[in-house]
Amino acid sequence: MNEKRAIGIDLKSLPPNPSPPDMWQDQAACYGIDPDVFFPTSEEEAGPALAYCAVCRIREMCLAWALKNGERYGVWGGLTEQQRRRLIRYVA
Ligand code: SF4
Repeated sequence: MNEKRAIGIDLKSLPPNPSPPDMWQDQAACYGIDPDVFFPTSEEEAGPALAYCAVCRIREMCLAWALKNGERYGVWGGLTEQQRRRLIRYVA
């Protein structure tokens, strides 16, 4: 298996120079949603956040920003903390 696609993400498809959240957060599916939803206390509780991400039209920008800035906590771009860590390990 292509490791970079191991969790369904093709890193080459992400914006190389993502702009900061204040440039796009008003277009996000999570705009106005309680931020606590995106900081679940366990991976198992990430479902509601991931559901928003699944229909978000700026998902790639969000994920690219999180990866570029090493966001360690919360759900970003449709990936949980663990999934982002795994993705980073694959490409390191
Ligand atoms: S991908 Fe998810 S966390 Fe990122 S802006 Fe969209 S809904 Fe919010």
